[in-house]
Amino acid sequence: MSNVIVGCPKCGSQNVRVVSDVTGSTKGFGAGKGCLGYICFGPIGLLCGLLGMGEGRTKTTTYRVCGNCGARFK
Ligand SMILES: [Zn+2]
Repeated sequence: MSNVIVGCPKCGSQNVRVVSDVTGSTKGFGAGKGCLGYICFGPIGLLCGLLGMGEGRTKTTTYRVCGNCGARFK
């Protein structure tokens, strides 16, 4: 992994956690899409639905939270 945890820019603490926020409900959406694809096109449709899920609209925001002062930073 290339995620190097740096100290907090605010207080300099090394007690920093990396937090990932996944926004969007792509999982349910993708599964529904996959099922729909299965109904229409069989296994290939299901596969396409699942692949579409992968490149979907999920946004993963990764940021760091200082465990000492609670500051959030990238
Ligand atoms: Zn801090």
